[in-house]
Formats: sequence, C-alpha cells, structure tokens
Amino acid sequence: MLEENTLSIIKPDATRRNLTGKINSRFEENGLRIVAQKRLHLTKEQAEKFYEVHKERPFYGELVDFMVSGPVVVQVLSGQNAVAANRNIMGDTNPANAEEGTIRRDFAESIEANSVHGSDSVENAKKEINFFFSDTEIVG
Ligand code: ADP
Ligand code: MG
Repeated sequence: MLEENTLSIIKPDATRRNLTGKINSRFEENGLRIVAQKRLHLTKEQAEKFYEVHKERPFYGELVDFMVSGPVVVQVLSGQNAVAANRNIMGDTNPANAEEGTIRRDFAESIEANSVHGSDSVENAKKEINFFFSDTEIVG
C-alpha cells in the first residue's frame, strides 16, 4: 500500500462559481483525505514560479493571468497512490476529453479554466507541496 501526498489546487473558475465543497466531496468520496488547506489569492510572481515548467508553452502568459484572476484553494490530499488517484478523479486536462464523472468533465469551463490542478508525479508533488506548505501545516 502506497500512502502518498499530492498537491491539489481549486482554480479561480471554480472558486468563482462556489464549487469548492462540491469538488472536495469528490476527493473525500474517492478515499482521499484533505490534510492541509488554505485559500489564497496568488500573486503574479507566485503563479509564474509555480507554472515555470510551462514558461515556453504558448499559453503560459494567459495561464498565469487566469490563476491570479481570483482566489484559489491550495490543499494537500493524502491516500493510497494519491498522485495517480487524484489525476483520475480530476480527468483529462481538456474537459472535452475527460471521462464521465470526473471533476473536469463535470465542472471545467475550458482547457484553461479547468477547475483543478493536481501534481503529476510523486517527485513533483513533494516540490509543489513545499511551495505552499511547511511541514507543521500538514496534519494527517
Ligand atoms: P494538467 O493540469 O492536466 O497537468 P498541464 O500540466 O499540461 O495539464 O497544463 C497546466 C495547465 O495549463 C492546465 O491545467 C490548463 O489550465 C492550462 N493549459 C494546458 N493546456 C492548455 C492549452 N492548450 N490552452 C490553454 N491552457 C492550457
Ligand atoms: Mg500538469
């Protein structure tokens, strides 16, 4: 059994539509536990740094603008194979390709405004969790 932590972000399109609780129910109903959580309005610098891996992609500037367009909820999800489990619950990046019953299929507005972020590997999860949380803020 692989107990892992992963970083989840509820993006501004979802907080704007008051979907925080509905989205978090999906995680809890699927066996993940929210072990750290805060609501933030990211600065441009934070959003640029967080998405630095995408800096050469054509959508980088718009993505950063979107991520600072309203509040986000950053959180740590814990559970068995949490990184992959979260990605499955989220669905494909493009909601048009996301499977039925996934968060992005049900809530995303577009490929950009796709309601949630989730770490894509255990290594990146560690980095992303450290970006927002200190060890004492994570309470399992
Ligand atoms: P994921 O969030 O599924 O891991 P990526 O890491 O590839 O997807 O992209 C990061 C974020 O950038 C996406 O969640 C989405 O908000 C945005 N994005 C990805 N591809 C596009 C695109 N083609 N056009 C606009 N925004 C995009
Ligand atoms: Mg990604």
